[in-house]
Amino acid sequence: MNEKVICPDCQTEIELIEATMVGDIIECPECGTEVEILSLNPLKYRELIEEK
Ligand SMILES: [Zn+2]
Repeated sequence: MNEKVICPDCQTEIELIEATMVGDIIECPECGTEVEILSLNPLKYRELIEEK
């Protein structure tokens, strides 16, 4: 598996590690946006809006 998440905020490509599972939270290394993995095949994800 060599899937990539495109950060919805800054368009950085974030490579997923092989152990990524549905429900995992990926953090963008550039802007800190958190992305939740909804599905792996096909890859679906959504930005997590953090309430402050
Ligand atoms: Zn980002």
